[in-house]
Amino acid sequence: MSSSALGFSPQENISLQSYNTLSVPVSTHWFCCVDNDQELLHAIAWARETACDILVLGGGSNIVLANDFSGLAIKLDTRGINIEQETETDVYLSVAAGENWHNTVMHCVSKQWYGIENLALIPGSVGAAPIQNIGAYGVELTQCFSYLDAVNIATGKTQRFDHASCEFAYRDSVFKGTLKDQYIITRVVLRLSKQPVWNISYPALAERLSSEALTIQNVADTVCAIRRSKLPDPKDIPNAGSFFKNPIVTSEQFQSIQQSTPNLVAYPHGDQHYKLAAGWLIDQAGWKGKVVDGIAMHGDQALVLTNPSRLSGHQLLDFVALLQADILHKYGVQLEVEPRIFM
Ligand code: FAD
Ligand code: NAP
Repeated sequence: MSSSALGFSPQENISLQSYNTLSVPVSTHWFCCVDNDQELLHAIAWARETACDILVLGGGSNIVLANDFSGLAIKLDTRGINIEQETETDVYLSVAAGENWHNTVMHCVSKQWYGIENLALIPGSVGAAPIQNIGAYGVELTQCFSYLDAVNIATGKTQRFDHASCEFAYRDSVFKGTLKDQYIITRVVLRLSKQPVWNISYPALAERLSSEALTIQNVADTVCAIRRSKLPDPKDIPNAGSFFKNPIVTSEQFQSIQQSTPNLVAYPHGDQHYKLAAGWLIDQAGWKGKVVDGIAMHGDQALVLTNPSRLSGHQLLDFVALLQADILHKYGVQLEVEPRIFM
């Protein structure tokens, strides 16, 4: 089938450097921006007919593109934030996948709909938020998620995923696991509360908010201020946020590591596990601010890998392998990369 037969004509040989926040210089053979679901279905059908792989792009803030892509990169630019249902206590908000996550948070803040204010200033799109169950300051998407719609790439049919079927876990979901690369999320329905649901237990928030009367606006503003003070803006210093997940280990593993590293920073995770602060391990091992061949762990936030010289994905991954080997050697902990690596 020709592209014109579907009314769909992708662009050819496009650089993806401005479409990934690590600013890795790679290109894609085929590229399109879609701003409505019909166009998305055309793009999927075209890729199927031409036997091309699909790379879905939101804000490109959680990906490492190691190589040029030979298939069709689809940038989701769909828009729409609408109330789907309202009860006395809750608002169910339907948000198009291409909406900017932070703008959605600030929309809810302005309406006094509670639940996602701690997730202010997380870069990227609403459609990508369920992929890794985004989280910050003790709040995760799962806590205010109702359901999502996603197109099955193989069939072109839209399917609904309720909360249970997304299998949310710590920075994880079914879309990173058994259903990886099989669905494109088109909209997410959030369940927000009309009553405050404060979560200011993280020390950085508690310190700044304890003395003032809490409002949804000052929680969001405080989160933004803390984040701006320690996280590099990808526009100035290319990065993908935290590059490693905080490792979840069993109580036995935690005790064993603690014996050799008594001041280890960790938090209980459920009844039988601990979450180790990966940033602390990286800092202790001497990698905070360290530069190797033009790539660096950020000086104010040890978990953030930066690519100031806009080097290749392979160069980034060489640096990552060095760091992982050192942490494994020093602490017996295997750090897992958080962003999705496309080889
Ligand atoms: P992309 O990077 O475009 O895509 C990520 C993955 O999802 C890719 O595999 C992509 O193919 C897939 N994908 C994207 N959209 C869709 C869709 N609609 N359907 C199916 N698959 C899709 N994350 C946190 O959890 N908490 C934080 O506090 C946080 N802070 C960050 C701070 C900075 C400075 C940066 C740069 C990143 C941070 N991140 C954080 C990581 C990142 O912002 C989130 O993971 C975000 O949800 C990624 O959104 P995106 O649209 O940029 O996704
Ligand atoms: P921080 O507040 O300095 O905390 C350091 C680490 O300790 C974090 O990883 C956090 O785990 C953990 N932690 C702190 N207080 C905790 C508590 N009361 N209970 C459980 N765990 C606790 O972290 P930060 O680096 O400035 O980041 C602030 C928040 O933004 C964190 O939630 C972090 O995850 C999020 N963030 C994420 C990204 C990303 O790309 N994924 C980038 C920047 C910031 P958690 O990470 O599990 O919260």
